[in-house]
Amino acid sequence: MLPKAANLQKIREGRRTYAITPGIPGGFIKPGLIRKYADVAEKYGATLKITSAQRIMIIGLKGEDVDKVWEELGVNPALSYANCVRSVKMCPGSAFCKRGLADSVKLGMELDKRYHKQEMPSRLKIGVAGCPNSCAEVHIKDIGVMATEEGWTVLVGGSCGRKPRLATVLAEGLDEDRVLALVEIVLAYYKQYADIERMGEFIERIGWENFRRDVMELYAGRQPAEQPETKATAAAPASAVNAAPIQNGPITKDSIIGDIIRQNPNTIAIFRAHGMGCLGCPSANGENLEKAAGIHGIDLDALLSALNKA
Ligand code: SF4
Repeated sequence: MLPKAANLQKIREGRRTYAITPGIPGGFIKPGLIRKYADVAEKYGATLKITSAQRIMIIGLKGEDVDKVWEELGVNPALSYANCVRSVKMCPGSAFCKRGLADSVKLGMELDKRYHKQEMPSRLKIGVAGCPNSCAEVHIKDIGVMATEEGWTVLVGGSCGRKPRLATVLAEGLDEDRVLALVEIVLAYYKQYADIERMGEFIERIGWENFRRDVMELYAGRQPAEQPETKATAAAPASAVNAAPIQNGPITKDSIIGDIIRQNPNTIAIFRAHGMGCLGCPSANGENLEKAAGIHGIDLDALLSALNKA
C-alpha cells in the first residue's frame, strides 16, 4: 500500500523511497512556504526537485515519514489520482512579462480553479501563454491557450512523452469568456466519449473533422447531428489489438493493464489499492502485469488474485 499521496520512486536493496508533490497553483509560492519546504526536506533527509509542471517535488522520503511531512507542510497534494486535470501551466503573461499580450496568469488561475484535479479519461494537461512565444508549451498540451494580437487561440490534442504530438488550432480570436466556454465544452465532450486515451489519441481515433465539427456545434449552442462512437462501441486502440487476449480466461501475469481496465473499469480501484496509481501513464496501456508489478514493488500473486475476483 502506498503512503498518502506519495509516488514510489525506487526500490534499492529492498529499501523504498517516495516522492510527494504539493500543489502550487501557477507556480506562485510565498517565500515563507518555500522556507517550510526546505526545513521539512532537511529534517527528513529529502531533496527538493523543481518539476516541469511548475511545482516543487520532495523526493527521497521514507514511507513512514510521508504522513508527518504532509502534516508539517499543511498543504494539499497536487494530484488526487493520475487520470485528472493536472495543474495548469501558465507563463507570466502581461502581468509580469514585457512581451505579454494578455493576462495568462488570470486566465490560467481561473482554469486551474475550475478544473484542477477533475477526473478525466486520462491525464490532461492545460497550458496558457501570454504571447506566441508559448513559454507555457501550449503546443504540447492537451488543451493550449495562447494570446495573439487578435485575441486568444485555443489548441487541442498536444502531448509529449512516448507519443509526442503537436496540438491543432481549434479556434482563434476569442476573448476570455469565450475561451472558458469553449474549454468547458471540449472537456465535457472528451469526458463523455473518450476511452482511456489522451486528448490527441481520442481526436485521432474519431477523426479531427468529426471532433472539430461536434465541438464547434456545441459551442454555437447547437447539438451535433451525429454523436461519435461511445466508449462502449469505440474501436479498440492499437495497444489492445496487440495485447494478449484476456476475454475468455483469467487475468494472468501477461495481461495488459490497459485491456484489463477497459474490460472492467472496477479494477481501477484494485490497482490503486495495491499501490499503482499511475494508470494514465503511457506505460500503463502497453505494460503487462508482471512488468508493472515489478516496477512498483507489488506482490504479483496478491494483485492477480484480487483482479480475478473482480
Ligand atoms: S509566452 Fe510570451 S508573455 Fe509568456 S513568458 Fe513567454 S514571452 Fe512572456
